[in-house]
Amino acid sequence: MEINKTRLQQHFEAMSLIGKIGETGTNRPAHSTEEKKAFELTAQWMQDAGMKTHIDSFGNLIGRLEGKNNSLPVLMMGSHLDSQPYGGRFDGVAGVLCAVEVVKTLYDNNIMPERSIEIISFADEEGWRFNKGLFGSRGILGKLEEGELQRKDKDGITREQALKNFGCDITKFKQDEYKQNSIYCFLELHIEQGPVLDIAHKPIGVVSGISGPLWATLKLKGMAGHAGSVPMALRKDALVGAAEIIIALNEIATQIPGAPTVGTVGTLNIFPASRNIIPEEVTLTIDLRDIDLERRHKYEKQFKEKIEATAKKHGLTYSLTEDTNSEPRYCANWIKEIIHTQCKQLNIDAPELMSGPFHDSLPLSYATDYGMIFIRSKDGISHNPLEYSSYEDLALGTTVLLRTVTEILKR
Ligand SMILES: [Zn+2]
Repeated sequence: MEINKTRLQQHFEAMSLIGKIGETGTNRPAHSTEEKKAFELTAQWMQDAGMKTHIDSFGNLIGRLEGKNNSLPVLMMGSHLDSQPYGGRFDGVAGVLCAVEVVKTLYDNNIMPERSIEIISFADEEGWRFNKGLFGSRGILGKLEEGELQRKDKDGITREQALKNFGCDITKFKQDEYKQNSIYCFLELHIEQGPVLDIAHKPIGVVSGISGPLWATLKLKGMAGHAGSVPMALRKDALVGAAEIIIALNEIATQIPGAPTVGTVGTLNIFPASRNIIPEEVTLTIDLRDIDLERRHKYEKQFKEKIEATAKKHGLTYSLTEDTNSEPRYCANWIKEIIHTQCKQLNIDAPELMSGPFHDSLPLSYATDYGMIFIRSKDGISHNPLEYSSYEDLALGTTVLLRTVTEILKR
């Protein structure tokens, strides 16, 4: 049984045209018309693979290949088709299209599995539009939080409105949730988005777990004033405070050389943003990750102390709100073993590695056993139009995924 490399490549190429920016970039926001187009195209491919398809109330695209015994928990695969605003062609897309190729291969070989197989393209994995991600994968598990639907994008559109515009009936959330024990396991193939495999010259990696992110938003408030007349000693400059806090996060995250801890301030909004007004208000987003949760907690505490001290020093008030707080989650040993065995049989030397980025697997890990296959990313570049994984590597990963699925279906 072999996958069709040419077809797989054609699917990637067709998908790259939807929301295309520049030569190789993608902009497919969550719940957008571009994502809808991507869903329609993928649904067609899913149907060609014998699957029934629908879009649920969370805005997830779901394809289902009915098994002989549909009372058994489903084997679920998937990832996402939404992209960063200035993203590449492979992040998320790989996990959906390679899974579709796996099911298409099973279907063409007349394999009718005992348990049903589902592929989900999860809504809003990326999280930039409403400043909170993993929406669809949390949604199906009943893990949405209070007030989430009222979050607004930069145009003032709420999540609720965006979902309605997408055609979703938000009163149906409850019935679209997956019941406990209804998912046998979850498999996600994803590009690495980091340089480890590329540096080691390995096409495939077996993921050991996902280091959980802490996302927070900090709002610093000072006092606006004329940049020409307010003496330095009397200023309450929110941007000066922000600058010290950004440097502090960097120092905290690098205090143990070589440790996998990462800390980032990725956005900065300044009010009123005029060259001759002292910045009154600065909002910045914080992203802190570590495989070691205890260490992350310790760094979070250090960081909070630093914010407090900096605010005091510059006469600022502040509010710190937590947007996301997840702990590291480890892949199931039995799935990792199956993936390793398949790699060995294919003569692939596949190292085991942690994932710094989070994925839809993260919320799924609370509901079922999960496994992840990483595909080499050229130069480790991702969330960038230059993101690249070769079709050879993607085909190889799809073969590993197909063999893994086949093994799991025997259980
Ligand atoms: Zn992704």
